[in-house]
Amino acid sequence: MNEDENTLKIAPKGSNEPVVENEEKAKNPRKRIVRSRAEMRAVASSDSRPRQTISFYRYVKIVDLDEFRNRLLDKLSSLDSLGRIYVAKEGINAQMNVPLVYWDKFDTWLQSQPELKGVPYKLAVDEGEMPSFYKLTIKKKPKVVADGLDDESFDVTDTGKYLTASEMNDYIDDEDAVVFDMRNNYEAEVGRFEGAVTSDDSVTFRDELKKTPELLKDHKDKKIAIYCTGGIRCEKASAWLKHNGFKDVRHLKGGIIDYKHQVEKQNLPNKFRGKNFVFDERLGERISEDVISTCHLCKENKSDTHYHCKNQICHALFIGCDDCIKNKKGYCAWYCRQVDKLPKNTKKKMARLYNSYVRKRQPFVKTRLAK
Ligand SMILES: [Zn+2]
Ligand SMILES: [Zn+2]
Repeated sequence: MNEDENTLKIAPKGSNEPVVENEEKAKNPRKRIVRSRAEMRAVASSDSRPRQTISFYRYVKIVDLDEFRNRLLDKLSSLDSLGRIYVAKEGINAQMNVPLVYWDKFDTWLQSQPELKGVPYKLAVDEGEMPSFYKLTIKKKPKVVADGLDDESFDVTDTGKYLTASEMNDYIDDEDAVVFDMRNNYEAEVGRFEGAVTSDDSVTFRDELKKTPELLKDHKDKKIAIYCTGGIRCEKASAWLKHNGFKDVRHLKGGIIDYKHQVEKQNLPNKFRGKNFVFDERLGERISEDVISTCHLCKENKSDTHYHCKNQICHALFIGCDDCIKNKKGYCAWYCRQVDKLPKNTKKKMARLYNSYVRKRQPFVKTRLAK
């Protein structure tokens, strides 16, 4: 999951611009990626080897960040693994896929790394038709989740206790408990737990965290269960809520992804409705057959399929129904379709202007995903 929406670049996605991640990469040939995004997408799509999509995270002190990053990059590239991995002095947050033929090698190697010994994986619920990733990026970050919190101002290790899927179900049925969705509005829109409290306007995790103590202020003495996609956001969020005076805060271990696996294995009732939004090419995993959201374009038909606007300057994330996607040809609006017809150089200039002015001033006008 990418929880770093604010670092989004407008570099037209899918264009034939070479991807140069940063200057550092340019200096070090090991990090140089010479293929264009479009080429990488084509290569990934033509690779028919079955892959396992996984995510994992760990808060662990990384002593030498460059060495750790390079070690991961060398090994994972050699195993043709793709994905997006953030490393920071405080740990690692990884979403990736591994060709099944290399799974054993991958698992043995990863578990033998001192920083990652025993780290649990969350296996994707549903691989989908598209490859989940089409390139491998490993980025150094100040934090593994962009939460906007000052970690020095509270005890980050004072996290809440974990909840299993079965305990989560008990919380949902318990009138004295509050279940709170720690994710952004566009994630909760397509899927959430029955009766969960969600924030309607938080487009980033930062926003969400800021608002949570206020949204839950009348429930300080109640039992609180929080959840997110794979569990990482709840680690700091539970400590943050405890710091804000909430006495009994627990969080769903392994997030929605692991909930689904536990429900299936233990034959429990599934109390999650709809889709689990994921931050890769699949954009969602179906957890239940319910479609709880409506098309953003016609505002009539039920749909929970996300699309990115085909106009690369816009690239807005929206929910579309089959009719609207067909009629509007994959664009979020009429003007996006018109803009896309302009000559390439004009579009490049527009993208630059949009990047420097419009997006800076109105970062949250549209819901967007960082890639
Ligand atoms: Zn529609
Ligand atoms: Zn658009």
